Amino acid sequence: MNKDEENKGTQRQDGTIVYSSETEGKRGIIFPSPIFGPIHSRRLGVSLGINLLPGDGKVCSFDCIYCECGYNKSFPPHQKFPTRTAVRQALQAKLQEMKEQGPKPDVITFAGNGEPTMHPRFADIIDDVIQLRNEYFPKAKISVLSNATRIFRQDVFDALLKVDNNILKIDTINPDYIRLVDRPISTQYNIEKIIHRMAEFQGKCIVQTMFMRGTHKGKDVSNVSDEFVLPWLEAIQLIRPSEVMIYTIDRTTPSPLLEKATPAELDNIGDRVQSLGIPCQVSY
Ligand code: SF4
Repeated sequence: MNKDEENKGTQRQDGTIVYSSETEGKRGIIFPSPIFGPIHSRRLGVSLGINLLPGDGKVCSFDCIYCECGYNKSFPPHQKFPTRTAVRQALQAKLQEMKEQGPKPDVITFAGNGEPTMHPRFADIIDDVIQLRNEYFPKAKISVLSNATRIFRQDVFDALLKVDNNILKIDTINPDYIRLVDRPISTQYNIEKIIHRMAEFQGKCIVQTMFMRGTHKGKDVSNVSDEFVLPWLEAIQLIRPSEVMIYTIDRTTPSPLLEKATPAELDNIGDRVQSLGIPCQVSY
């Protein structure tokens, strides 16, 4: 692939653009904004995506080395965040179309090109989406995938309490590992404070954790050993989420030497969560 093709990426039928540089660098998927999909998955069923980030790049308060959207610096956006009105209108049009032509959505998922709670009108948009969901497909669930960096904002916290699946990421509680793998943009990021704030959801949250193996810039990034799992289990006990979701590398990652955790490792961790009396969903 020459440099021009690499920089342009390949547009799929659903509007996502896949960039697949062979080397570490411009690798990732950029989703259309504000609505994408529906995507059919075995686990979620029919999922309609809401991307509150700009449609031509990535905006996130983390810069995970495994992010399917790629590194922040590889995809700087030129467009703005979609407005509240634009999100509302696009969602209404899509739900109307799905009502007339199918398929019926099982879930409406806030995901896409970064961290959804960074949208300045996130809380208002949640209210709009709940209202439209109730009007068109009252049985569909609303899920938000978030890295939890903005849960100290009261409006974000309250909005997350209103959705069916408030899915918050914690990959580890080891600060060095967080700096190596999740790479929060803010130097103020404090995992202890995040854990205590998550406990304030009083069970109305789901913890999502990436387990993996491999290396990044010559450093081991495996987090499947007891050194990482035991303190993480303590954090889970403190948060008491309604559920835990653990998963592993599934697609091309911007950092090239990451590897999947094995099914046996994931099952073992899943069993230890279940033994705390908390349901755990494992994706291989
Ligand atoms: S938090 Fe999510 S969107 Fe942000 S960098 Fe990590 S994987 Fe990507």
